[in-house]
Amino acid sequence: MTSVASVTRQIAALDINGKKTASSSSINRPTHAKHPSQSNVTKLLTKFAAPNPFPNSTAKQPSALRHPTTAAASSSHHATTSTKSDPRSGIDIGTYDGGLEIENEKRGEKVYGEAAEELALDSSTSKKCPTREWTLHSFDMGRPLGKGKFGRVYMVRTKAEPKYILALKTLYKSEIIQSRVEKQIRREIEIQQNLRHPNVLRLYGYFHDEKRIFLMLEFAGKGELYRQLSKYGCFSEKRSSRYIDQMADALSYLHGKHVIHRDIKPENLLLGINGELKIADFGWSVHAPGNRRMTLCGTLDYLPPEMVEGKEHSEKVDYWALGVLTYEFMIGSPPFEDRSSVNNTYRRIAKVDLKFPSSMSLEARDLVTRLLRYDPEQRLPLSEVLRHPWIVKYRSKGVIRDGSV
Ligand code: ATP
Ligand code: MG
Repeated sequence: MTSVASVTRQIAALDINGKKTASSSSINRPTHAKHPSQSNVTKLLTKFAAPNPFPNSTAKQPSALRHPTTAAASSSHHATTSTKSDPRSGIDIGTYDGGLEIENEKRGEKVYGEAAEELALDSSTSKKCPTREWTLHSFDMGRPLGKGKFGRVYMVRTKAEPKYILALKTLYKSEIIQSRVEKQIRREIEIQQNLRHPNVLRLYGYFHDEKRIFLMLEFAGKGELYRQLSKYGCFSEKRSSRYIDQMADALSYLHGKHVIHRDIKPENLLLGINGELKIADFGWSVHAPGNRRMTLCGTLDYLPPEMVEGKEHSEKVDYWALGVLTYEFMIGSPPFEDRSSVNNTYRRIAKVDLKFPSSMSLEARDLVTRLLRYDPEQRLPLSEVLRHPWIVKYRSKGVIRDGSV
């Protein structure tokens, strides 16, 4: 009998960018009411979501399986609009609202010169890891997933077999240039493309046209973690512990690749179809081969003392943020928050003015206290976070770092 592991290995080999696939036919915290198509999609997505290259991560990871139907060729010059329940597909990707074309008429400008060259991003010409060529015509468009700073995000399905479900994120080049983040965006893309971990949102490829850059992202079926936190106010200890377990594992992977995230906060975390956590938004990340950075960045509530005080910092900034996140998951607000003034928050961070409500268990407090140390060198290493009693206690048996909570 074929083992799960061997099937998963075969599936992983069928990478979305691989030669085995047929070539293409060539806010702020937005609210997200549960879309009716979501529940229909949920079960099937487990089968048809894009591949996860980590077969040993969890038995519940989405797998890429070949779709039984043939690709629908489109003669349209625009991306194809999906019908709500396409009988061929099995998976409801929702109704496309035509937003990309409408927006493209009104928004953004063509860019020229050096900046245009900097933003001519195409994963098929990537030196390190070239993919097949992708264009907007390669996808059936589905429902809008959200609005980002530089453009919209849509649920899409590749037209070519096997049909993968993805999130397609648009970025308007002229707005990137206006905000002077060309280098940051380039870096975000380069970093994310090289990452492969079940709790790190995968970037499968990217391409561009005159005005826009398109990112082909892993579809996070359960949306934003921030939305869940807002909905419930806070999470149970069990749920918090399981998220922190996944976070620690993902951060440990990132640090092993010399990537410091630097902007860990609930808004930058998404949830996969099985509720597993996915770190997204690598905008502030840096490759840090031995150097310590001095740029002030990130969100105030999650900044560690060394950044507040403008000192050098290292990957230990992410350890601190993990402590803040643990606290916020359980309490519903970050530990040093002071709504009266930004300076007070700074002061509280620099003093590590940490107070625990009585509702928090002693084990959880112990972990938070060990992560929120003023001296970065004193913070609990991620390998020990993964062995901490409060983490081990809630880890589900048999399945490693299960996303279900
Ligand atoms: P912001 O500053 O508002 O966070 P952004 O440019 O970082 O904007 P994203 O957060 O990446 O944009 O995307 C906007 C919204 O689209 C997200 O809040 C989320 O709801 C949705 N979204 C983005 N990526 C995905 C994905 N891979 N899967 C599912 N939904 C997604
Ligand atoms: Mg975001």
